Amino acid sequence: MVTSMFNRVFVEEECFDSPQVHQLREKFSSIEFKKIDRIDHYFGRVKKPYLQKRDGLNLYIGQKRGELIKLAPPAYGLSGEPHFYYVHAYNCIYECEYCYLQGHFDSPDLVWFINHEEVIQAMSDKLQDFSQEKVWFHAGEFSDSLALSHLTKELPLYHNFFKHHPQALWELRTKSVNIKEILKLSPLPNMYISFSLSPQKESQEIDLLTPRTSHRLKAMQELVAKGFHIAVHLDPIIHSDDFVEKYQVLISQMKEHFPLEKVAYLSLGVVRFTKDVYHQVQKNYPESRMHAQEFIKGLDGKVRYPRPMRLWMLQKIKQLCLDQGMIEKQIYLCME
Ligand code: SF4
Repeated sequence: MVTSMFNRVFVEEECFDSPQVHQLREKFSSIEFKKIDRIDHYFGRVKKPYLQKRDGLNLYIGQKRGELIKLAPPAYGLSGEPHFYYVHAYNCIYECEYCYLQGHFDSPDLVWFINHEEVIQAMSDKLQDFSQEKVWFHAGEFSDSLALSHLTKELPLYHNFFKHHPQALWELRTKSVNIKEILKLSPLPNMYISFSLSPQKESQEIDLLTPRTSHRLKAMQELVAKGFHIAVHLDPIIHSDDFVEKYQVLISQMKEHFPLEKVAYLSLGVVRFTKDVYHQVQKNYPESRMHAQEFIKGLDGKVRYPRPMRLWMLQKIKQLCLDQGMIEKQIYLCME
């Protein structure tokens, strides 16, 4: 299975002899590893259609350059604390029909960055700017944070940093059930594994290739049992005539797997796109159920449901969470 995952692997010269690449070359012994000077001289240089990811991917390994941690957009996480994200990878093995990566890069090929020590140093520097505050660092902005963590192997490095920096809060965003690398680590009070969840039917029809919702709930159950903090993103919520009933079932299922007070925070967001991503979605998934409801293009260039409808949907789902015993301060509205 592992050997069929990539067609070819390209590695920046200065990373070629690193322990990480050495391990990968042993694991993928039947795949050619080719030296390149810099990833950005190759990755996305020739536009590669997004859906070619179905025919196999190339993998690029190298160093993240430029800004190593970035300020997250407004309403990205719980308000009142600064939020940053760091990037360990580009692109994803899953294929959610709404995924913004399809309009973001000119290639669906995977990129893994391995200069984690530099990223961690940047986090450490950032903490100096906020000496009196908690500071969030999120993983999973341009890739799923756990799906390939058994191959990328960076989690222990970050874990060690967060263990010694309780002021820093760590969020790993995922739709994966690949929690085995997490279970090798000890739970930390400042570490949160957050799962995006959608009703089972949506998940199967729209979150293509992702683990079933029921499997994600089991992974969350296991993490809670082992003492890890979990969080939930009910995002993106997609309208259908019975979306309220479907979310009612989902929230009840959550409650059957773990006490809802164990959810450190829950975000709610309604499906939205940038103009470019929406164009890609129409091209890649013309038959998607997502097109059943009309979207509008706002002044900010975002394509989404009209504001009254978005607010009504968010309020409906929020009320379901409150009815099941969650409290206001656990819930935040994402990107509204
Ligand atoms: S899991 Fe996230 S990054 Fe991966 S395809 Fe789905 S939306 Fe995109």
